[in-house]
Amino acid sequence: MTPFKFEVLHKSKKSEARLGKIHTPHGIIDTPSFVAVGTNGTIKGLDSRTVTEIGLQLMFCNTYHLLLQPGTEVIKEAGGLHEFIHRDLPIITDSGGFQVFSLAYGSVADELKSRGCKKTGDLVLKIDEEGVLFRSYRDGSKVLLTPETSIAAQKDLGADIIIPFDELPPYHIKEEALKHSLARTHRWEKRSLDAHLKSPNGQAMYGVIHGGINLDYRKESCEVLTNLNFDGFAIGGSMGKNKKEMQEILSHTLPLLPKEKPNHLLGIGDLDSIDQGIILGIDTFDSSYPTRAARHGVALTKNGPLKLKKNANKTHFAPLEEGCTCPTCKRYSLAYLHHLFKAKELSALTMASIHNLHFMVEYMASIRKKISNDEI
Ligand SMILES: [Zn+2]
Repeated sequence: MTPFKFEVLHKSKKSEARLGKIHTPHGIIDTPSFVAVGTNGTIKGLDSRTVTEIGLQLMFCNTYHLLLQPGTEVIKEAGGLHEFIHRDLPIITDSGGFQVFSLAYGSVADELKSRGCKKTGDLVLKIDEEGVLFRSYRDGSKVLLTPETSIAAQKDLGADIIIPFDELPPYHIKEEALKHSLARTHRWEKRSLDAHLKSPNGQAMYGVIHGGINLDYRKESCEVLTNLNFDGFAIGGSMGKNKKEMQEILSHTLPLLPKEKPNHLLGIGDLDSIDQGIILGIDTFDSSYPTRAARHGVALTKNGPLKLKKNANKTHFAPLEEGCTCPTCKRYSLAYLHHLFKAKELSALTMASIHNLHFMVEYMASIRKKISNDEI
């Protein structure tokens, strides 16, 4: 089994952007790389074979969802997640913390739009030093998620890269509460690492840097976590309410992380954020944006987003993007896709998702080329 290893192949002369390779037991990830999100062990509308054909080297699956359905013990019995979903390329799983705390506090997006979390808030029964007790939205059963149970679940899943249990505090949080949350998250991450190191099984663990929009706390989080034996680092927690705040947090945080370890930006992967993150030295990004956009009938193209359902596309009998080599554009016209969306056919969602993910793979390849030429 290939052990986890990260190598930096080239550092741009123009910025902090870098070209690298992450070696994992299930293959190599060329960085910078886009990571597709397959919450329930599938990228919505696509099977694993298609995902591999598109060239997506790393897939992100959510422990919280797999814990509740079908249950990580079922996946363990199947021989692990790779076996269960028939994927022989690398997988990363998260801790479940993000989803559980989104139930408790609502997502940052909900919060910024004051949507609150009235419907789901009742599902969280208790949050204390041990972990979080919540009710399954599927069958109402009580589930205790702690650093130890999250790692046990991630051992059952057997992903190549795993994430320690952490708290996602709300964006609007008082200073004192954020300080308290940060300290507890650091204790939880240490407990997660200890549990992981009892049986590493070739898995790598990324520590998650927290601290919200408070730059001093971000620094403290880097200091505490880089002293622990993590294989890489993910940047999580609230990244602010706009790109400017995110830029500030990233440019403050990234220089404090060890250069010889890979880093990941959690849950952010729109094109602007990728461009912004790359020059600051981010190696991997995960986001459901390209597939969600596809399901809403928006194709990503070199000329910007294209609305597939627009009437003007009704008789456009050429591919949606001229020169695109994706399986959708190689075979089908924009007019056909437009028709499938209008007729509400499921294949429309699949075909648009294939194009958008192929677009992301090509986009990252072009970025890697630019880095190797010191253009960015
Ligand atoms: Zn295409």
